[in-house]
Amino acid sequence: MAKKQFKAESKRLMDLMINSIYTHKEIFLREIISNASDAIDKLCYLSLTDSNVGLSRADFGIRVDIDKDARTITVTDNGIGMTKEEMESNLGVIARSGSFQFKSEMAQEEKDKADIDIIGQFGVGFYSAFMVADHVTLTSRKYGEATGAKWESDGADGYTISDCDKDTVGTQVIMHLKSDTDDERYSEYLDTWRVKELIKKYSDYVRWPIRMDVEHYESKETGETEEDGTPKTEYVKTMQEETVNSMVPIWQRAKSEVTDDDCKAFYKDKFHDMEEPLAVIRVNAEGLVSYNAILFVPARAPYDFYTRDFQPGLQLYSSGVMIMDRCADLLPECFRFVRGVVDSPDLSLNISREMLQHNRQLKVIASNLEKKIKGELKRLLENEKETYAKFWKAFGLQIKYGVVSEYGAKKDLLKDLLVYENSFGDALMSLEEYTAQMPEEQKLIYIAAGETAQRAASLPQAEQVLDAGYGILYMTNDVDDFVIRLLDTYNDKKFCNISVDDLGLESDSDKSETEQKTEENKELLTFVKDTLGEEVTDVRLSHKLKSHPVCLTTEGEITLEMEKYFNSLPGSEGAAMKARKVLELNGGHAAFEALQKAYAEDQEKAAKLSKILLAQAKLIAGIPLEDPSAYAELVCGLF
Ligand code: ADP
Repeated sequence: MAKKQFKAESKRLMDLMINSIYTHKEIFLREIISNASDAIDKLCYLSLTDSNVGLSRADFGIRVDIDKDARTITVTDNGIGMTKEEMESNLGVIARSGSFQFKSEMAQEEKDKADIDIIGQFGVGFYSAFMVADHVTLTSRKYGEATGAKWESDGADGYTISDCDKDTVGTQVIMHLKSDTDDERYSEYLDTWRVKELIKKYSDYVRWPIRMDVEHYESKETGETEEDGTPKTEYVKTMQEETVNSMVPIWQRAKSEVTDDDCKAFYKDKFHDMEEPLAVIRVNAEGLVSYNAILFVPARAPYDFYTRDFQPGLQLYSSGVMIMDRCADLLPECFRFVRGVVDSPDLSLNISREMLQHNRQLKVIASNLEKKIKGELKRLLENEKETYAKFWKAFGLQIKYGVVSEYGAKKDLLKDLLVYENSFGDALMSLEEYTAQMPEEQKLIYIAAGETAQRAASLPQAEQVLDAGYGILYMTNDVDDFVIRLLDTYNDKKFCNISVDDLGLESDSDKSETEQKTEENKELLTFVKDTLGEEVTDVRLSHKLKSHPVCLTTEGEITLEMEKYFNSLPGSEGAAMKARKVLELNGGHAAFEALQKAYAEDQEKAAKLSKILLAQAKLIAGIPLEDPSAYAELVCGLF
């Protein structure tokens, strides 16, 4: 039979496994058992609606057998099984290619370390068998098929798949252990007590019984008598089948019984994440609807998180039986990054997806979980700022999208979770913290928008706000603008976008001075406006500027940030929304004096200066110039 080669990535992984120096090789058993458990989940779920399965919950289980003479350890399940085709697609390539995608972003020196980490923390499923075995035989019969199939491999040089007889539905994995070396004693996995210990350690929560024959020594009377007349006894070895695991899933245990580390380890194993979650939320609710939940906030967004491919949702169980892998109805869209498990005995086992959507209990659970998640995030924000910063880096954008989606339906839920870079320093600041530090006379929440915080900070309009002793929050995402518009106020304080709104800082005398100056320069301002044409809707003297000569502001609904955003959308060319831009000039600046002079003496020069000033204002506001070389020529023309 021709050997098939592993796909390139899988081959790399296989080499890694075979030559692994990883010290916790023992996790191979956890991986194989976890596959067996998943397969049983699937058939058990099917049995709810398909009476032909002919098995009830109590019939399912996993067996582990050790054969010291043959040097094999065998894991057998009566789960859903695999067809030949499924063996090809499941075992010929590594299933979780996401892990490798993630790795390709790392630097090389990190990769070597990650190779080890990936085995230890992430688990690599079926392949980990090759850390301890030099030959693996997997036979399987899929539910509904008449015969079985066999997958065999010695590791690196490929695998074979063939037909085989198999009486029962399910899968059997036979691992032939490598010979012991000076450094490694693979024979330890032939020791019943050692294997039993491993199952307890890693697979205790598996919901199906894991049975194995365990040696017991009983004292038996031999029939003879000791010298002192007491009956003579001897120890006799018997093998007894035991269920090794406790089968109580972690979420059904009392909070006091499970440590935080247990929860984190469970998360990494269950959701295949290398990194520990940032937060664990446990709920044991009794009352109107009883349920247990264990939820996690991951430390990093999955690579496909912001794409359509990402499937949000929590795993849904009814009394320990999984009824849905990703139940999206349990999670509000804004918290779609949360992973976890919900288990409620109040949900019927054979409820359909369509019915779930309208299920009252589910709605109650979903709304409770929403509050719990918000509560936990708020707690992190208030008590564990650094952890919150990590969360924000991964999912801050999602929270912002959450505010603006559904016409702002969740804005009150989410507004307390928003944090921003700011003029006070490094740490992210919430709106609550900002409003709490506002001096009494400060009426507005000042915000500045820019591509980066640094850019926003250097907007000419910022100077006056900072000089007045007030802080500024920097908005660096396209969506921020929409967020602020939807919120409109926070703690009854209005937002002031310094590029759009009146800063509310000038005194009456400042105002009348500006008005007077405007009156005096009316003709010049009209000239500048006419020179710039459609580019601006108005040209004004500004009371927002201190040391800068110009700035760009907008009138009306569309801000500069929105214009940039709409322009960036694919296919937006030409039809894009335009902000109504206003060029504001600093009447007290030398540049304005030069403009006045040129207007009096040389209008052609005044026109050039007007164009240069607009170009500068645009650059500072982060709007690219349509014709940079024309601008360069204009500037050089001044010399
Ligand atoms: P993962 O479990 O993360 O998907 P594995 O490499 O461990 O990755 O397994 C690959 C796939 O092979 C599984 O997703 C499953 O479809 C199939 N598989 C593995 N073991 C079994 C089993 N005992 N019964 C049925 N299918 C299995």
